[in-house]
Amino acid sequence: MGRLADKNILITGGNGGIGLAAAEDFDREGAHVAVKLDRVTRTYRRDKFEVRALDDVSLTIPTQGFVAIMGPSGSGKTTLLNLVAGIDHATSGSVVVGEEEITTMNERELAAWRARHIGLVFQFYNLIPVLTAFENVELPLLLTHLSRAERKTHVDAALKAVGLADRTEHYPRQLSGGQEQRVAIARAIVTDPTILVADEPTGDLDAKSAEEILLLLTQLSRQFHKTIVMVTHDPRSERFVDTVYRLDKGVFISSEKGGMSDQTNGLVATT
Ligand code: ADP
Ligand code: MG
Repeated sequence: MGRLADKNILITGGNGGIGLAAAEDFDREGAHVAVKLDRVTRTYRRDKFEVRALDDVSLTIPTQGFVAIMGPSGSGKTTLLNLVAGIDHATSGSVVVGEEEITTMNERELAAWRARHIGLVFQFYNLIPVLTAFENVELPLLLTHLSRAERKTHVDAALKAVGLADRTEHYPRQLSGGQEQRVAIARAIVTDPTILVADEPTGDLDAKSAEEILLLLTQLSRQFHKTIVMVTHDPRSERFVDTVYRLDKGVFISSEKGGMSDQTNGLVATT
């Protein structure tokens, strides 16, 4: 992955040096905006034809929420996520993530920004088969200034946060799909990113494992106050998220409350 090539990953650490930001670092009541898209269009050109993957999309995503981007196949969900993650460029319009306008960054700036602020989770986990769970999670930290002992502290904390403290020496093939996705989530949070972006994270899982992953993401957003943007076409996800944003044919249709929008932190954290 490109982000592994970036040398200047800063670990803020939070309290206890676990790599996951502490609750008091954030103002939960503050109306902070994690993502702001303003009139974003992304077109792809193929020969003479132009595909308008996103068409004049304006939306905001608040910090510390768990949100789902939903819509039928081909509606532009992945395109939108890739713009938020700084993997792809908008054709026009503005994309602000955190405090920063990322549309004007060059590739080098964007790569450094991505390494610092974005954690990525994919449908097919993308774990390295010859590395253990611990080593997979450690990968993004190898190019930082952290010592071996500090890396171990962060990796152990991340694996604990996803409920896999007892699987550190397992290889991906020795894990279930749900466990592999947990390792991938641990790898995504180990650098303490500002935003976790997940593209169809439950797309390859059975119903029970999918539910466990959705619950884990809910917990991470609550306990560690993470902003999580998830793309999915699975309607079962709706009850796990705070807000659902709907796309259709590249157009932003609506945002509505998900099932978690009026539940307390305690309810989720105890499960
Ligand atoms: P979704 O994730 O909702 O299924 P995508 O964002 O992947 O949708 O795609 C939206 C539209 O853009 C589709 O019509 C798709 O074919 C087109 N598209 C996506 N990526 C590319 C690309 N790299 N080149 C050409 N067309 C693309
Ligand atoms: Mg997609």
